[in-house]
Amino acid sequence: MNVGEALSFGRRLLAGKSDTPARDAGLLLSFVLSEPSEFVYLHPEAPVSEGLFAQYSGLLDRRASGEPVAYIRGFHEFMGHTFLVDPRVLIPRPETEHVVEAAAQLLTKTSSPIVADICCGSGAIGLSIAKALPLSRVVLSDVSREAVDLARENAKRLGLSHRVSFLVGDLVAPLLAAGLRGRLDLVTANPPYIPTEEIDTLSPTVRDFEPRLALDGGESGLEMIRRISKEVPAVLKPGGYLVMEIGADQGEACRDIMMEDREYWAGTEVRRDYAGRQRVVVARTHGTGCPKRVVGRSGVHGDEDCQG
Ligand code: GLN
Repeated sequence: MNVGEALSFGRRLLAGKSDTPARDAGLLLSFVLSEPSEFVYLHPEAPVSEGLFAQYSGLLDRRASGEPVAYIRGFHEFMGHTFLVDPRVLIPRPETEHVVEAAAQLLTKTSSPIVADICCGSGAIGLSIAKALPLSRVVLSDVSREAVDLARENAKRLGLSHRVSFLVGDLVAPLLAAGLRGRLDLVTANPPYIPTEEIDTLSPTVRDFEPRLALDGGESGLEMIRRISKEVPAVLKPGGYLVMEIGADQGEACRDIMMEDREYWAGTEVRRDYAGRQRVVVARTHGTGCPKRVVGRSGVHGDEDCQG
């Protein structure tokens, strides 16, 4: 058996069971061979021993029963970094990279920003921001203690432990308890936002394997987003930012929610991902000197021309 044959075997076995059979077979084969993922495409003639083929075949069966490749391998790439992932945390999605990019861009002029990533899961967002901004300090928090345990491990592996701290608790409650009221330049969140009744319609790879706690946004899907809009301003500095991931059809609803909370928010902007879907909300609290001033429905820099 060689690599090329093993790949075709995997592709056939996963056809109809995975949306990306060829890709999954390639990732699992390179994992078993302890080679980088491009190896299997560059070396179709390389031999695969019987023992390794048996291992590969076992992993293909797990994938065929729905288990995500990222949990089978135990890691996933995000923002060019490798994060450990397992069923304690959601697997970071490529579109979530927009949250990191927006946050890093908003903070380029802040000399030593303090950031919190609430609902941190694996830590993918907060730790990628810490990597992108070498002078930042980042607090990661999650209601799931076991998610925070994994985020801590990821921080260590990425050499970030000295600039990152960890809290367990519900949204901003642990941040307030840690004395962070009004202290943060920016908060990121990828909260659960899928309406409860849609959970059953998700692909089995998501529905049966990823933590429901990280997906279920309550009856409307907007329950955590509503709470975040009301609770996050307490930990932000004046003029501080919220960068939050939302579902593709939630932009208008989020704008409305944040308009209702306009005593806190000076401006709200909905950004799209590369597929053109509404994906990230960027909002800014009122700056010093013009509290509670209401500006337009969009434009997060709404307060900048207000000097008091
Ligand atoms: N984007 C994820 C999915 O499609 C959901 C993430 C979330 O609820 N925060 O499965």
